[in-house]
Amino acid sequence: MAKINDAVIIGAGLSGLTAARALTDGGKRVLVLDKATRPGGRLATRKVGTGKADTGAQFFTVSDPEFKAAVDTWLEAGIVFEWSRGWSDGSLVETRDSFPRYAAKDGMNALASYLAEGLEIRSQAEVSTIQRLGDGWMVTDSFGAMYEASAVVFSAPIPQSLRIIDASNIDLDPQARAQLAAIRYESCLVALLEVDGDVALPAPGAMQRPHANLSWIADNRRKGISQTRLITIQMSGNFSHALWSLTDAEILNKVRVDLEPLMGGNTWAIIDAQIKRWRYSRPLNPMSVDYLLTEVTNVSGSGETRPLLFIGDAFSGSKVEGAFLSGLRGGRSLGQRLG
Ligand SMILES: Cc1cc2nc3c(=O)[nH]c(=O)nc-3n(C[C@H](O)[C@H](O)[C@H](O)COP(=O)(O)OP(=O)(O)OC[C@H]3O[C@@H](n4cnc5c(N)ncnc54)[C@H](O)[C@@H]3O)c2cc1C
Repeated sequence: MAKINDAVIIGAGLSGLTAARALTDGGKRVLVLDKATRPGGRLATRKVGTGKADTGAQFFTVSDPEFKAAVDTWLEAGIVFEWSRGWSDGSLVETRDSFPRYAAKDGMNALASYLAEGLEIRSQAEVSTIQRLGDGWMVTDSFGAMYEASAVVFSAPIPQSLRIIDASNIDLDPQARAQLAAIRYESCLVALLEVDGDVALPAPGAMQRPHANLSWIADNRRKGISQTRLITIQMSGNFSHALWSLTDAEILNKVRVDLEPLMGGNTWAIIDAQIKRWRYSRPLNPMSVDYLLTEVTNVSGSGETRPLLFIGDAFSGSKVEGAFLSGLRGGRSLGQRLG
C-alpha cells in the first residue's frame, strides 16, 4: 500500500493540477491520479500525422486579478502568448475588443505539462471507489491499486465525480448532493481536418460563430502549433447533440457540407480527419461559488468528519479561468481545513 497522503486528487486537468500546487505550496503531501495517459484533461492537444491540433480549450481570457497574476508568470516563462483580441464571425468584419485571448505556444496541453512539473502524478489510474478508513480515505483505482489520504479532491466533470461517490455508497450531505446533481453539461463534437489547399479564415486564422452549426474554426498552423495545416472545428451544442449517435464518417460528411460555403470557392481537400467526442465539454449552469467542501462522518465512531472537496469548471464562472480559480481557492481552503 502507498504512503499516507494529505490529499489524493482525482483528475489532472487544470483544476486538479492547480489545487495540487496550492496544497503542496502549503506543505501538504499530494498525489494526483488521472485515468488518461497524460495530464491535461480538456487542455488537450492531439497529434495528427506530423501536425498538432488543440482539441479542447482553444484560448482563454482573464478577468480575475489572481488569474492574471498566474498568467503573467506563464507569459514570462514563455508558455503562453497573446493570440488575438477578438475573432471574426466569418463576415470578415473585425470584431476586436480590448481583451487579450491567450493560448499556449506548443498547444494547450503544454500548459498542463508545465503545471504538472514537480507534482506526484499517476496517469492511467482511473479511480473507481473511495472508502472511509479510520480517520481518512482509501482510494482504489480500476487496477485495484490503493492510496490512503486524509482528504479526497474530485476535479472531474461533476457527473463523473458523482458516479464514484455512488459506487462507493458515500452519503453526501443532501443539500451538497442536490446542488452537484443539478449541474448539467453540454456535449461537443470536434473535427480535426488536415487540409491541402487554401482555407479562407480571417486573421489570425480563426472564426467564432456561436449560433452556427460549426461554431469555431481555427487553423492550428497559423496559430503556430502545427507544422501542417490542421483545422480544428467545434460543433455547436445543438449540432453536436443532433449528430452524436452518427459514425465518424457520417459526422465528417455533415461537416464537409457546412464547411464548403465558408471556403469562398478556394480549392481544398481533406488529407486526414479525426473526430473527438467530448461528452462533458462545458457546464451549462455552473455554481456561483468557487468550490464545494463538504464533510463525511468517519467510521471510527469518534464523531469526527473527513473532508471531500469538489472543484473544476463547474465553479468560479467555468472555462479555463474558472477551473484555475476553483482549483486554487479550493486547494487553499482544504489546506487550511487539514491544518
Ligand atoms: C471542445 C472544448 C472547447 C473549449 N474551449 C474553451 C475555450 O476556448 N476557452 C475556455 O476558457 N475554455 C474552453 N473549454 C473549457 C475548458 O477546457 C475547461 O473549462 C477546463 O479545461 C476544465 O478543467 P477541469 O480541471 O475543470 O476539468 P478537466 O480538464 O475535464 O479535468 C478532469 C480530469 O479528470 C480525469 N478523470 C475523470 N474521471 C476520472 C477518474 N474516475 N479517475 C481518474 N481521473 C479521472 C480526466 O481524465 C481529466 O483529466 C473548452 C472545452 C472543450 C471540451
